[in-house]
Amino acid sequence: MSHTATTQDEKRPPVVDDRHVDPHSYPEGVAFLDGQYLPMSQAKISVLDWGFLHSDATYDTVHVWNGRFFRLDLHLERFFGGLEKLRMTIPFDRDGVTEILHNCVALSGHRAAYVEMLCTRGASPTFSRDPRQAVNRFMAFAVPFGSVANAEQLRRGLRVAISDKVRIPPASIDPAIMNYHWLDLVRGLYDAYDRGAETALILDFNGNVAEGPGFNVFCVRDGKLSTPSIGVLPGITRRTVFDLCGEEGLAAAATDVSVAALREADEVFITSTAGGIMPVTEIDGIQVADGKVGPITSRVMALYWQKHDDPACSSQVNYP
Ligand code: PLP
Repeated sequence: MSHTATTQDEKRPPVVDDRHVDPHSYPEGVAFLDGQYLPMSQAKISVLDWGFLHSDATYDTVHVWNGRFFRLDLHLERFFGGLEKLRMTIPFDRDGVTEILHNCVALSGHRAAYVEMLCTRGASPTFSRDPRQAVNRFMAFAVPFGSVANAEQLRRGLRVAISDKVRIPPASIDPAIMNYHWLDLVRGLYDAYDRGAETALILDFNGNVAEGPGFNVFCVRDGKLSTPSIGVLPGITRRTVFDLCGEEGLAAAATDVSVAALREADEVFITSTAGGIMPVTEIDGIQVADGKVGPITSRVMALYWQKHDDPACSSQVNYP
């Protein structure tokens, strides 16, 4: 009996966690890879790609809201800037990438989408250690819109922890090149979770506040906005906040933001394509001011979403 059972056990395939094999565990969406549009579950790359093995890649993320791309021109500018700085080439110009992104969204049918364009160093046929031998690889995809903060967090504000992890310095990696060097950010996130917070802010090499996993940060004091100036990605949502402040006559500056300044702020919010403007109402377990979402944060949030219908900032996706 026991022998039969063992034989049957041996014939069984090894137990594999369903998440690794179930195509339905991928978000609904459409990817562009090697000249083809594919369901997300079929968009795969080689494990020998430098993008995977060495984080040698750049990307950009733009969102679609109510069927319209938001500030796609700025995202393309940043993406092509990153390609040039990393000496990568792709067989498409800006119009070509624009067409591919539109097609991914249109084929996915998503009216609210998170859309990523990316390029990896690629792989070389001989597994050469010379990055010049690798064939660069462009990909893009559109999946449902995702936000750093969920609906409840947007209403009541996020609980954030300031981690002592230091953001990779700009002398090592130009932060204007969007990259997947996220180990500092991910370690910061675990610090935050260990301390009961929902997300993290990490520091720059001078001990000032830098940014968080996928977002910039602003604080408001006496009606003036400030955001860290060095060692951070020049976010497009951050830039939109500056544009809105210009239009509204609000003072906003990129400058050093100390941990003390953040703690003493009247209001704090974070900014990202993944969620827009998101309030922070607790830092390291202590309320920011009265612990409520502040008036300037609420105003900038409303103006930000209004801009999404403005043809000067957005472009319509042509769905079939
Ligand atoms: N900082 C980092 C490290 C990011 O990865 C991102 C976005 O992915 C941001 C800030 C926010 O940039 P944006 O507003 O362009 O989405």
